[in-house]
Amino acid sequence: MKEAAYYNQLENKSVKCILCPHNCTIKEGKSGICRVRKNINGKLYSLTYEKIIAMHIDPIEKKPLYHFFPSARTLSIASPGCNFHCFNCQNHTISQIDENIFEFTKEFPPEEIVKIAMRENIQNITFTYTEPTIFFEYMLDTAKLAKAQGLYCSVVSNGFINRQPLTELIPYIDAANIDFKFKDNTLYRKVTGGFVEPVLETINTLYKAGVITEVTTLIIPELNDNENYFKETAQLLLKISDEIPWHLSAFYPTYKMIDYPSTDPSRLVELRQLALDLGFKYVYTGNILNLEGNTTYCPNCGEPLIERHYYNLKLTNLDGNKCPECGEKIYGKFQ
Ligand code: SF4
Repeated sequence: MKEAAYYNQLENKSVKCILCPHNCTIKEGKSGICRVRKNINGKLYSLTYEKIIAMHIDPIEKKPLYHFFPSARTLSIASPGCNFHCFNCQNHTISQIDENIFEFTKEFPPEEIVKIAMRENIQNITFTYTEPTIFFEYMLDTAKLAKAQGLYCSVVSNGFINRQPLTELIPYIDAANIDFKFKDNTLYRKVTGGFVEPVLETINTLYKAGVITEVTTLIIPELNDNENYFKETAQLLLKISDEIPWHLSAFYPTYKMIDYPSTDPSRLVELRQLALDLGFKYVYTGNILNLEGNTTYCPNCGEPLIERHYYNLKLTNLDGNKCPECGEKIYGKFQ
């Protein structure tokens, strides 16, 4: 447990957490929407500091990050909890929690995380699986130590974080994959409990700050796979940049959305082509077998640069950050 960053004290020992756009007002003895930031005697505490619920060594492609040191391994870590309550959460057993969750956590101080990465000869630490924003203090302390040792850090997040903590975090983060779920607040609120504007602002801020930024959108039949809806979603991202890699992932029935149909792979392939036609330079399909949708092509001459089969690279054909055929600069960090 550690005193939280980003909160204000109010009257009667209440506090206002200003870490994420929920901006919860929390009475003494209560927790915020994420359930892991608790008001104890008029001070706000992060309950999950140094508490790990999941740790794995993953290929970086699994995050997914396709434009950040392809084929590198990353040490992926998570603390419990989330500030969203997505009906389709694949990790709901560790993100949607009650107090018993702490029976399943293990203590790992930031120094220990960095030591593990170095011992395993892993150059990158990823904060992922649940929502890193709500273990902000732990993520920040770990990232600072990791950077001091010359390691890279990346984050997989719903992007629902206030500007000030994001700005403090950015110098220690090299790459990010942000979930951009819906273009409108009606669906955002209904399915996730959040809203869209802060997510777009996070993507914009990360990208403009030079963090390698990729975006994932889960394509859910009947919700966001209609052509007009998809085009409007795409336009919001295109306003930020056409070079942000966009991952379109197939939905499978899960958690509270068990009655929804799976995404038809052919629909995902169509939407990828539509996104390319709209002007995106790099669009990928996820959760389906599709070589073309997993290949990075030069956006200028069409040369295949990186082919992926699941998480294995079949071909790497880059000259540094450049296409070997036409010299076009490819977005990302590759060496
Ligand atoms: S981090 Fe948690 S407590 Fe803080 S505003 Fe967000 S949901 Fe509320």
